[in-house]
Order: sequence, then C-alpha cells, then structure tokens
Amino acid sequence: LNTTDLIEEHRICVCVRARPLNKKELTTKDLDVITVPSKDVVMVHEPKQKVDLTRYLENQTFRFDYAFDDSTTNEMVYRFTARPLVETIFERGMATCFAYGQTGSGKTHTMGGDFSGKNQDCSKGIYALAAREVFVMLGKPNYKKLDLQVFATFFEIYSGKVFDLLNRKAKLRVLEDGKQQVQVVGLQEKEVKCTEDVLRLIEVGNSCRTSGQTSANAHSSRSHAVFQIILRRRGKMHGKFSLIDLAGNERGADTSSADRQTRLEGAEINKSLLALKIATISPGMASCENTLNTLRYANRTKEL
Ligand code: ADP
Ligand code: MG
Repeated sequence: LNTTDLIEEHRICVCVRARPLNKKELTTKDLDVITVPSKDVVMVHEPKQKVDLTRYLENQTFRFDYAFDDSTTNEMVYRFTARPLVETIFERGMATCFAYGQTGSGKTHTMGGDFSGKNQDCSKGIYALAAREVFVMLGKPNYKKLDLQVFATFFEIYSGKVFDLLNRKAKLRVLEDGKQQVQVVGLQEKEVKCTEDVLRLIEVGNSCRTSGQTSANAHSSRSHAVFQIILRRRGKMHGKFSLIDLAGNERGADTSSADRQTRLEGAEINKSLLALKIATISPGMASCENTLNTLRYANRTKEL
C-alpha cells in the first residue's frame, strides 16, 4: 500500500438517503422538496416568499460520496456503505457505520429493518445484511483457516446510561482505561453461528429496546442503539464492526451539549480506525429545516 491508498482507505465516507413521502405526508399533501439529480448529489428545493409575496424555490445543492433517492433499497444502500467494512474487520480492523438524521427519516428502517408494522422484519436491515456477509466471508479459504468465532452485542445509550439489550436491559458501567479505550463492563457478547442466530438477537434486542414505551419513536428519538459484530481468534479480538442507530438530531440542544452521552459517542468515533456515516432525510416540505441541518452537518463530516 502506498500513502494515497492508506488515506483513501481510512477516510470517512458520507452518504445520504432520502425516504419516500409517507402516508401522513401524502394525506396532508406535503410536497417532496428533495431530488437526487445524480448518484452523489442531493438537492433541496426550499419554498420561499419575497416581500411582494411572490413565491419561489430556493435550490441548494450538496455533494456526498453517494446520494440515494427514495427508490433505493436497503440492499443497495448496504452495498455502497457497510459492505466494504465487513472486509475491514476480517483484516483486523475496527469499523463504524452510523445513521444520523431526524426522527422519522428512516435510520432504524435502514439499520435495523422494518419494525413499524405488525410484521417485524429485520432481515433486510444493514445489521442483518452485514451479518450475512460475515458468514459468507468465514467460508472463504483465507479466513476459514483463521478459525474465527463471531459474537454480537446490542446495547442502548439513553440519557448518559448504557443498557444491555441482550440482557433484559441491565444497566452497565462504562470505564475508560489509560489508553482512552472505552469499556462497557459486563456487556453480553453472544456467540452466533449463522445469520438466523443474528436475526433472533436483533429481534430480542429491539423488543427489549421499546418494551414499556408508549411510542417506539419517542424513545428511540432520544437514545442511541449500538449493534456490534465482533470477530475473535483464540479468544482475542480480531476485528469489530459497530453499527449505530443514533438518536434523532432534531433537538439542537442534545447535539451540542458535552454530556456523557455525547462524549461516549465521540469516544466511539475516535476508537475506530474507519468511520462511515450515513445520513437519512425526510422528503417533506414540513421537514425542510431539519433536512437542511442534517445535510449541512453531514457535509462537514466529509472534511474530518
Ligand atoms: P427513524 O429511525 O429515523 O426515526 P424510521 O426508520 O422509524 O425512522 O422510519 C419512520 C417510518 O418511515 C417507518 O414507518 C419506516 O418503515 C418508514 N420508512 C423509513 N425509510 C423508508 C424507506 N426508505 N422506504 C419506505 N419506508 C420507509
Ligand atoms: Mg428509529
């Protein structure tokens, strides 16, 4: 590898996904203010009014590594975002993939799968798609000989506290060692042998996350969910992939405060050799201000 390859390999990749207008937005005749004119450009067409009351659209353009329009499937989003990182963990790397965006913009749909209806389906979320790839990779001759074991963890960070979603929401302590490594003490690492094992854990974790809540979205809008796939070789960590469904970004106060939650998030970022962010946006005019905030933030992330 030369230097250019290394920089290329360790840079942050930022992608944006717009979801389709939902039933409610269609019922209230909300307008879709987002277009994706090419595979790396997002445009926001913000309705404005002049002093003489004539209306016009103010068009703003943002460029990212990839822009996904509302017809894009999870499988496609996965292919261009998380998939290359699965290889990273087999090569002893640490990888992180975040979903950042307004509540209701599609973070959980993208990361975890569809939990909105009666038929909960986590098989098409990025957690599951990444896990499926891990088991495919394990079978390849180069990796098969390493005799790797696969483990999963699933926890939630809510108002500065960490809860284990695979252990009945047990409250966990977080320690930072001398090397600025963050340790979640007592976090359950469940061994998984196949994709179905992982799907079961995602279901358990997700029902644990939302149990006792009046609204799944009200709760998840204030909490981060972290799903990890860990590779071990003779008990020692070989690679780790953290997939993070972040709290909704709509309340400015939360994102700017330097509380423990924010610091943990920062620690998670620093700890990773590779980081990759996805941002999700709502298409509706009613969400225009939040959408612009998300895009401006995601745009800055590219420069990290
Ligand atoms: P968030 O986690 O960002 O709050 P959700 O993932 O819960 O948002 O999405 C809100 C609603 O929109 C859910 O009912 C979800 O199924 C739906 N949704 C999100 N993204 C898409 C998409 N790309 N296609 C179809 N429906 C979507
Ligand atoms: Mg969510």
